[in-house]
Amino acid sequence: MKYIFITGGVLSSLGKGVTSASIGSILEAMGYKITFLKLDPYLNIDPGTMNPYQHGEVYVTEDGAETDLDLGHYERFTNAVLTKYNNTTSGKLYHNLLEKERRGAFLGATVQVIPHFTNEIKKAIEKASEGYDISIVEIGGTVGDIESLPFLEAIRQIGLEKGKSNVVYIHLTYVPYISVAGELKTKPTQHSVKELRAIGIQPDILIGRAEIPLPKSIKKKIALFTNVDEDAVFSAPDLNIIYEIPLYLKKEGLDKVIAKNLNIEYREPDLSKWKKIVNTLSKLEKEVNIAIVGKYVQLKDAYKSIYEALIHAQIPTKTKVNISWINADEINEENVEQLNKFDGILVPGGFGERGVEGKILTAKFARENKIPYFGICLGMQIAVIEFARNVAGLKDANSTEFRIDTPHPVIDIMPEQKEVDKKGGTMRLGAYKCHIKPGTKAYSIYKQEEISERHRHRFELNPKYRPILEEKGLIVSGVYKAKNLAEIIELPDNMHPWFIGCQFHPEFKSKPFAPNPLFVAFIQASLDKKMKNL
Ligand code: GLN
Repeated sequence: MKYIFITGGVLSSLGKGVTSASIGSILEAMGYKITFLKLDPYLNIDPGTMNPYQHGEVYVTEDGAETDLDLGHYERFTNAVLTKYNNTTSGKLYHNLLEKERRGAFLGATVQVIPHFTNEIKKAIEKASEGYDISIVEIGGTVGDIESLPFLEAIRQIGLEKGKSNVVYIHLTYVPYISVAGELKTKPTQHSVKELRAIGIQPDILIGRAEIPLPKSIKKKIALFTNVDEDAVFSAPDLNIIYEIPLYLKKEGLDKVIAKNLNIEYREPDLSKWKKIVNTLSKLEKEVNIAIVGKYVQLKDAYKSIYEALIHAQIPTKTKVNISWINADEINEENVEQLNKFDGILVPGGFGERGVEGKILTAKFARENKIPYFGICLGMQIAVIEFARNVAGLKDANSTEFRIDTPHPVIDIMPEQKEVDKKGGTMRLGAYKCHIKPGTKAYSIYKQEEISERHRHRFELNPKYRPILEEKGLIVSGVYKAKNLAEIIELPDNMHPWFIGCQFHPEFKSKPFAPNPLFVAFIQASLDKKMKNL
């Protein structure tokens, strides 16, 4: 069992998750069985209760864990299928610890951060790593944060216990480029490594994130002042296509240095499939303009997986997707016309009332003007509300999430959700099977009767209203048979060329090598619409 510990220096948002994922993809291409663990030092049990503006997207795993968005990167870059054991937080670990304390597990002892909390961290690392050749453990936050100290202490101890040849410490740091001086500055990196060494961790490998590649002289300087081998200082400049990062890191020689440090056999990684997609992505022949009408549009990370799924859809369609992020809150009767310039409209998931009426107007505009519409989770519920109000004539139809006393609750809380009073981890979460009706658009897209996609919601299409909506033309093309829940809705060809909503989140399973079929079909439909208009 080998461990790679990845810490971050100087500042956050350096792309530690994507770098960890890329390292995973290289090791996988070398034939090793890898897994990941993200350790988040905050006190929430998981990010499920956090506002996307605080935390970015909440990524959902097959087994229904609400996790950090970095798990999305790990799954997209590799074949790993992650679970609740692959992301943990200080909150969750303290919760476990304090439950044990109440049970009397430590009778007589004073329960302390060291060793009790650090032992919880070490156990979480062991649990996630079981059965793999190499475990890639990313510590959230930045070295120097007070809250990440116990995590650094735990990984320091693991290094000592497992021995030098089984553990590698990688520090991802920032090397700012000061344009007025025309210089890359190494001082912040020197300080960050100094901080790490004060805790007792000497990094083996440094990866310098910078606007531009680090020249040899800068690598040499960093190596000298941080006590790291010059060959183990790597460059990771900003790249337009993130799927190029594995290729870049391999070119820098990171694969060989990791193999040497971990004392594992070096096998030349075959990265040809990465080359192929980067090649396709850098030479897209066509383009479409897509509007994403949502509520957290100021922070791109809030819709990370949707953004990536749209990137993946570019590959088979050879079409560049230009995204415009539109605040649903600002859409009204007077300005909804602005959506006319788009080839396709996507309404993503969301919670709470703000922006809902703008999204309903958006769905109406897309339906009436035959613009391809793709509604995901709340985006599907919105489409149903709009159809109920404006096609089925159910005045003031709504979801009980937004109006508890609506005369027509076409979207209603699921029966099993009615008794739930706790917010955290209690939604309908994770993978569920969906049966697709042959002969529908959904069937022609997925080309199979049974699919599985991931969920994160409390509300659903109210089965009482299904007959009325279906009579007016709405097609329920996918259902969760066990509970007869509507999973996919669509409009028939005589009403609209491409109007689909799904209750699940297809973006979570989309990968560059397996783009999600709904996203691909949506981009193809948008391209068809554009061509027709031309
Ligand atoms: N708020 C809706 C529900 O809970 C939709 C959730 C979502 O879009 N993820 O059902």
